[in-house]
Amino acid sequence: MGFSLNKKTISDVELSWFEGSGVVVRADLNVPLDDGVVADDQRIRASLPTLRFLTSSGARVVLLSHLGRPKGEVDPEFSLAPVAARLDELIEAPVRFIPHSDGAEAASQVAEVPQGGIALLENTRFLAGETKNDPALAQSWAELGELFVNDAFGTAHRAHASTVGLAEAMRARGHDAVAGLLMARELRYLESVLRAPERPFVAIIGGAKISSKIGVVSALLPRVDRLLIGGAMANTFFRALGLETGASLVEEDSLDVAARLLEEAGERMVLPIDCVVASEVSEHASARVVARDAVQGEDKILDIGPKTRERFGDMIGRARSIVWNGPMGVFEMEPFAGGTLSIVEAVALACDGGALGVLGGGDSAAAAERAGVAHRLTHVSTGGGASLELLAGAVLPGVDALSDF
Ligand code: ADP
Ligand code: MG
Repeated sequence: MGFSLNKKTISDVELSWFEGSGVVVRADLNVPLDDGVVADDQRIRASLPTLRFLTSSGARVVLLSHLGRPKGEVDPEFSLAPVAARLDELIEAPVRFIPHSDGAEAASQVAEVPQGGIALLENTRFLAGETKNDPALAQSWAELGELFVNDAFGTAHRAHASTVGLAEAMRARGHDAVAGLLMARELRYLESVLRAPERPFVAIIGGAKISSKIGVVSALLPRVDRLLIGGAMANTFFRALGLETGASLVEEDSLDVAARLLEEAGERMVLPIDCVVASEVSEHASARVVARDAVQGEDKILDIGPKTRERFGDMIGRARSIVWNGPMGVFEMEPFAGGTLSIVEAVALACDGGALGVLGGGDSAAAAERAGVAHRLTHVSTGGGASLELLAGAVLPGVDALSDF
């Protein structure tokens, strides 16, 4: 497992060092825009603790982020200018937007930023070198400061110039590359639950595709006491058991893997015992509850049934550590949202009672937000892909490149 608690964080730097020092920060400010205005500022807010810490300590902050997928060329649609405007509203420190992505081109304007101020450079992905991890580009950013802080957990699973390359370039200059407060928080919760979980340890895996989560299921299986399976993933396991799945989403290519995992897991893997089915995936579908061995030819399995909710809820209620990724059904539609909502509530209740509950995954996090219980969970990860890879035991390159103790 790729544990990285031996990596330096921003808290390991002497507080007095920051005064007047240049700090290059990679944050994840990849927010949705609507007509040139920030439509959801959650990721900007999540970056505030690190930025506030640095500016209030008197650092001069050079801030980098990507936004969208501009394919390595300037595309005004993906400019970070609206993000700079929103950040300026949210933070007390002065924010200056610099319309250059390259460090050398931005240098003279960066030099004018006062102590305690922030210079946000233009979208890193306006340059082809970003996703190619071009060392010259990384070097141009490293020269803008004497410390690199990586706070972009959401891109830690990618080796890009502003993540891995910049960390390496900064260290090659004899300076440190450290995790920011958000990054450190993500790693602390996700890794502590994997490394030394208080038991019982229950994992809940759902979502659309088994193929995208086989790594997570295989890595978690030997560690957990129970692995609860929901969502469309469960269908592929049903089929592997020889059950009728009707018109449900099944990944034929993953049937062998599913059969092997079932055999390996024995009692630890818990599949749904009943399902909500309908003949169409629609808000107005007439849904029925059936036992898992009573699915008909026209049926699509679209949620876990009430008996399964109760059974999963019991196991979650007794857990001391919980990891959850992926919704239990097509929660975006009212007739199939009940399973996910009841699991959200069960995990929140367990956390109220002192269990450690960590939720990762874009759609499951959205479900928790929508149910209004996200704040009751111990931790909701901001990085879908990165949290999945971490749970699957991968070493995240963006973390690996940081300074060791
Ligand atoms: P996350 O983003 O939390 O990791 P995924 O992206 O893996 O989750 O899966 C989320 C999607 O899975 C949702 O859009 C949901 O509608 C879909 N889904 C869940 N259960 C089913 C099902 N039984 N049939 C079809 N789609 C499903
Ligand atoms: Mg998703």
